[in-house]
Amino acid sequence: MVKKKKTKLDIRNTPGKGVSTISVHAGEERFRYADSITTPIVQTSTYAFKDTAHIEAYTRHGHSHFEYGRYGNPTEKVAQDRMAIMCGAEDCVLFASGMSAITTTILALVRSKDHIIITDDAYKKTLEFCSSYLQRFGIACTILPFGDYEGIEKAIRPNTRFIFSESPTNPYLNIFDLEWLRDVAKRYNLMTLIDATFSTPYNQCPFDYGVDIVVHSATKYLAGHNDILAGVVLGRAELVDEIRALHKAIGGVIDPHCSYLLLRGMKTFALRMERQNETAMKVAEFLEGHPQIKRVYYPGLESHPHHHIAKAQMTGFGGVVSFDIMGSLKNAKAFLDALKLCYIAPSLGGVETLITHPALVSYYNLTRKERYDLGITDTLIRLAVGIEEPEDIIADITQALEKSRG
Ligand SMILES: *Cc1c(COP(=O)(O)O)cnc(C)c1O
Repeated sequence: MVKKKKTKLDIRNTPGKGVSTISVHAGEERFRYADSITTPIVQTSTYAFKDTAHIEAYTRHGHSHFEYGRYGNPTEKVAQDRMAIMCGAEDCVLFASGMSAITTTILALVRSKDHIIITDDAYKKTLEFCSSYLQRFGIACTILPFGDYEGIEKAIRPNTRFIFSESPTNPYLNIFDLEWLRDVAKRYNLMTLIDATFSTPYNQCPFDYGVDIVVHSATKYLAGHNDILAGVVLGRAELVDEIRALHKAIGGVIDPHCSYLLLRGMKTFALRMERQNETAMKVAEFLEGHPQIKRVYYPGLESHPHHHIAKAQMTGFGGVVSFDIMGSLKNAKAFLDALKLCYIAPSLGGVETLITHPALVSYYNLTRKERYDLGITDTLIRLAVGIEEPEDIIADITQALEKSRG
């Protein structure tokens, strides 16, 4: 998680080594405006120069100064530095959403006539962007079934720019073998991008496997309160600089207030992750032993097909548990409708427990056959645990399962 290797950022403003210490303090000056304990929200779109000499000191002599909101903001800068230190990256850029982070990063890295490879259970909008929008600019995209490592290797062309995957993926929590990715990337001189939203820097450090760029939807665990959208891109300074340059032109920047909420959320990141990892494991074990549950998908369970990879490359397995319930669509609907604590809502990683039905939400526009080909059954449920007591979540599921029988 937090890399031993010193980065430029590590040396500055890091008062301790532990993940909770870093998530509370990193990136901040010790004394701030009006001696405030919290980082102030600098709610401004532009910044004044004292005089023309000040302009020239900034433009010609490299004096540090904020110029205009799209190019940076002091509250954002603290959030960005904290995120880089927490994730063990040389540098970081923040975005207005996870999708803004992903699309800007891809656009910064590809050139016309390039080819990219992505796995088929990536986030739906990421897949859509890669397979349809990029094609308009002459960028080819091969989508391969998750786990088809041989297929990925065969799909590599001289013009392949990068391999992109998530790990764990949604909704089956498939785990990408990052050792394999490192070897193949080295052998073919490819770049690698990982969307690590589901693993978080608490549970996995893709940089340990030589991954070039890591993206997160900070909307989920990093902000953690189901109240903002934000995106994060992390990597080596020179690569992140290229992405930052395009970001300034595309303009999907995070605003000062949102940066503050992200900072505020990050302060409890380690506490929340510890709880969510534990709760998800308990809920997964409970579900696995329940007679009305057909199958549970959680990488922390030995029954998960990628449990061995997860154990080797992760320190915890996250807060999302997917499961198939017995019966039909009718039973799945009755189960969801009977819940009293868990909210029926998309998203994950926040303090409230959310539950969703992929077939009705993300895949509603496919035919049943198309959905089943993708493995999205009528009875598949995705649970994203919050920080409530695990016993209360289990009790809610128990009573709802009871009502869904028959
Ligand atoms: C939510 C999510 C995204 C998109 O992030 P937004 O913040 O909603 O734009 C991308 N990838 C994964 C894995 C996600 O869960």
